[in-house]
Amino acid sequence: MAYQHISVPEQGEKIQCLSGPDCIPDRPIIAFIEGDGIGRDIMTASRRIWDAAVEKAYGGQRQIAWMEIYAGEKAAALYDGDYMPEETFEALREFLVGIKGPLTTPVGGGFRSLNVTLRQVLDLYACVRPVQWYEGVPSPLLRPENVDVVIFRENTEDVYAGIEYEAGTPANEKLARFLREEMGAEFFEGSGLGIKPMSAYGTKRLMRFALRYAIERGRKSVTIVHKGNIQKFTEGAFRNWAYEVAREEFGEQTITEDQLWSEYGGKQPEGKIVVKDRIADIMFQHMLLRPSEFDVIVSPNLNGDYLSDAIAAEVGGVGIAPGANIGDEVMLFEATHGTAPKYTDQDRVNPGSLMFSGVMMLEFLGWWEAAKLVTQGYVRTLAEKVVTYDFARQMDGATEVGTSAFASAIIKNMGNGA
Ligand code: NAP
Repeated sequence: MAYQHISVPEQGEKIQCLSGPDCIPDRPIIAFIEGDGIGRDIMTASRRIWDAAVEKAYGGQRQIAWMEIYAGEKAAALYDGDYMPEETFEALREFLVGIKGPLTTPVGGGFRSLNVTLRQVLDLYACVRPVQWYEGVPSPLLRPENVDVVIFRENTEDVYAGIEYEAGTPANEKLARFLREEMGAEFFEGSGLGIKPMSAYGTKRLMRFALRYAIERGRKSVTIVHKGNIQKFTEGAFRNWAYEVAREEFGEQTITEDQLWSEYGGKQPEGKIVVKDRIADIMFQHMLLRPSEFDVIVSPNLNGDYLSDAIAAEVGGVGIAPGANIGDEVMLFEATHGTAPKYTDQDRVNPGSLMFSGVMMLEFLGWWEAAKLVTQGYVRTLAEKVVTYDFARQMDGATEVGTSAFASAIIKNMGNGA
């Protein structure tokens, strides 16, 4: 289709489907949103790293055809004040895979988060955040190497669905009257009201996705994290529906934790994934004290939001934690931190979060060799103690470099030697 400001690269080919590497041409068109604030610095550095890794891995036989699409401040400047132009959605629907930097969301009324809008409009229902430790990354844990989890957070429901009524408004008063008079609910006068919808449909598609991932990647367990002891018909139902998917659709590949003990004496049988559940609050403690017991984690939206940042902090913080928002029609990989506006265009910040989101993307493309080269370059650069300011302030004897010099060091360290 014809776009107003987006130029489709002539040399590239469209990705036809998301069902795996067979759908990926050698020159796939990948959409990118640069992002606001530090977005320009980290996107420029990361694209250099990904391109170098692909070139080193495939010697020109494969190449990403980058296509810039627009959101946030850059979009507003181009599209007459429109921060989220319709053609950005259209391009993602047409080209299926994108990667984005962070976008500003002004605090206060009248401006919906651009990130939440993207997730809801494109139905990107799974937020996927792998968290693992790399040698040399500063961590508050004694044994950070025990952290290696992938969090699947539900992305479209829960209190993030945007069904909220401000105290004192006619809509709030109408709902309050209905709840008191017809449902017998009791709450203070003048309360703001919010609705927390959680469905079997939303829960089951997330759990299905997480289980498929766990099977494909040879993971050992899937833990359902919820607050079902208090919120029985939302969080509790989430737990029950998730177990239902495991039992009814993946019965051959999964066992429950109860079965593990009652039928297998606590010894995990080969080829079976253990499905278990934990209450959200104790999960925060477990991830600090016994992280090696967890592998894939599935959680509703709000708990997953807190949990993924908290776990990321155990192994270096949001400066390096990658993420992706994934639906059945579109995949959007993204840096998990914000725009850190005070560092805009200073060439200072850590590109790690976006860079590793790109590693996830390369893995999805089936370009494993390139993905490994990026990780290898990163690990070796850390071993040399060459880091950006955020790690330098936590490490003894580090050499502090800017974003672009850090990218150059990673590229230099790719693929030379074991
Ligand atoms: P933030 O932008 O993530 O920044 C908070 C702090 O985290 C920074 O001041 C910096 O810490 C550190 N930091 C973030 N990214 C870093 C990086 N790449 N390298 C090193 N340090 C990094 O959070 P915020 O200040 O709360 O939010 C700013 C804006 O971003 C808001 O408009 C918010 O809505 C938006 N936001 C967008 C997304 C998204 O697009 N997905 C996510 C979150 C927030 P120091 O000050 O200690 O150096």
